[in-house]
Amino acid sequence: MSALYRDTQAYVDTAAVQRNLSKIRRRFPSSVQLMAVVKANGYGHGAIQSAEAALAAGADMLGVASLEEAVELREHGIQLPILVLAPIPPRYAELAAALDIRLTVTEAGWFKQREEFRQTPNGAPLRVHIKLDTGLGRIGLRSREEWKQLVPWLKRKDIVVEGMFTHFATASWADTSFVKLQYERFLSMTQWAHSSRIFPTLLHCCGSASALRFPEMALDMVRIGAAAYGFYPSALAPQWELEPALTLRSALIQVKQVSAGDTIGYDRAYKARGEEWIGTVPIGYADGWSQIMQNGEVLVGGKRAKIVGRIGMDQLTIRLSEPCRAGDPVVLIGSQGSEKLSCTEAASRAGVVPQEITASLTGRVPRNYEKLSKDEALQKEEYAWKPKQDLLRRF
Ligand SMILES: *Cc1c(COP(=O)(O)O)cnc(C)c1O
Repeated sequence: MSALYRDTQAYVDTAAVQRNLSKIRRRFPSSVQLMAVVKANGYGHGAIQSAEAALAAGADMLGVASLEEAVELREHGIQLPILVLAPIPPRYAELAAALDIRLTVTEAGWFKQREEFRQTPNGAPLRVHIKLDTGLGRIGLRSREEWKQLVPWLKRKDIVVEGMFTHFATASWADTSFVKLQYERFLSMTQWAHSSRIFPTLLHCCGSASALRFPEMALDMVRIGAAAYGFYPSALAPQWELEPALTLRSALIQVKQVSAGDTIGYDRAYKARGEEWIGTVPIGYADGWSQIMQNGEVLVGGKRAKIVGRIGMDQLTIRLSEPCRAGDPVVLIGSQGSEKLSCTEAASRAGVVPQEITASLTGRVPRNYEKLSKDEALQKEEYAWKPKQDLLRRF
């Protein structure tokens, strides 16, 4: 249990992550593997906890963004296959092979560089997935020439070409023509492998948006990130009863009454129009509550309150519709009474995707994994971390 020395805390319902992944899994034939993407600390929900939820939901593989993230999962005893979704420095390939971590490869030069660092040519085989750039334009090979240069390396005995994949640029759009073009390009590029007598068993192209919207494009595996955490990846995605898993709470640290013309916060960015109640919430951009949330709202006393003035590093200020007191609970993501403020709503007001908000929550915001049944649970003693007696005695 994390310390409760500050009321700004995140609560993660890992059972919701498990249920989301189970629901997604049931939408596909059993021949389609499920990769749970737990990069960026499980989109802010906790990498290990999300990986365990994925395992419980029957996921076949985990996806991460860096070798660090993969190693962290292994260090915590996670044994599922893991794919690092982008190229890593070739000098760490042997470490990946030793830990049975699959790597993404995009060019022959990577293998060439790896030669310099290879100590034991007969070590564990390295499993790779070849990334194809069919239109996203970030990573992946595009031409048959690049493919041909790669082939001799892929034929080596210590290399297993397990998969080939691509990623869509416009999977959330109403206009589906570019997704379809990318999909067609992907299918025809996978033929290059077949004509080189290389037969990857896992062809995959769908992230959450395309998996939900175009399940017929699932091929051998879907890579599910956002939807696992209960975020609909597109307004056009079908409703699969996904549940958001993260709640963000805090409590007022001060409430004051101000008069017309009083200004609040840096640069005097907000000026009161009359007698107003202003509450201060101990969360700011160093917690991941960025200044893009400036026009947002929070919940206090079961009602919405507007964020006013600039969001600071540690604090933000809100305009209260009624006098409240220091200590009153604040909900930034979640529900309070009958009022609900979803991460998706907060994100759309800020012009970003919901996972940007949860993934941005910094280490200063403790993640709690106990189930909270009531708004008041935050204040309940059993949820408070108890300092060790000898520590207390010193004060
Ligand atoms: C992050 C990532 C995903 C997951 O995307 P979501 O939209 O969050 O499901 C899938 N594939 C790749 C290559 C990724 O980098």
